[in-house]
Amino acid sequence: MIDYHRLVILLRTRASVRTWQKIDDADRSEAWPSRRMIYAVEPTDETTLFVFAHECGHVALNHPDLSVQGKAARHEYDATQWAFSALRRLGVRVSPDIVRFAKECLAGYVETDLECGHVPLRIRFFVRGVKPAYAERHENRKDAGE
Ligand SMILES: [Zn+2]
Repeated sequence: MIDYHRLVILLRTRASVRTWQKIDDADRSEAWPSRRMIYAVEPTDETTLFVFAHECGHVALNHPDLSVQGKAARHEYDATQWAFSALRRLGVRVSPDIVRFAKECLAGYVETDLECGHVPLRIRFFVRGVKPAYAERHENRKDAGE
């Protein structure tokens, strides 16, 4: 049984997240590193825990509050790697499903950044062969409408 409450406290401490604004919609998750603040759903499973840790990662790494054109993929990748490593150090297994979910989220940023600049090879490698999450959502909408 995973103690999410305890993990939330440990992640916040590690990242120096001062304020956690609880939200209901995981798609609206975000970080305001200059305010040491995150918007995230209360973790109740491995996906919401990963998203929580990822937003903590943006704060821990002092990323800009708004995404910088051409650098979003790098920031998203670094926040995700921070989350993986923080979770593992806290004894949480990062499952293949979560790694895939993280790659799908990142793949959209990589596609956009490739249009306006350089994306480091390690990041392009990380998402190789993965379909961007937003493309999947788009296709689902299209299927539903036809
Ligand atoms: Zn992010």
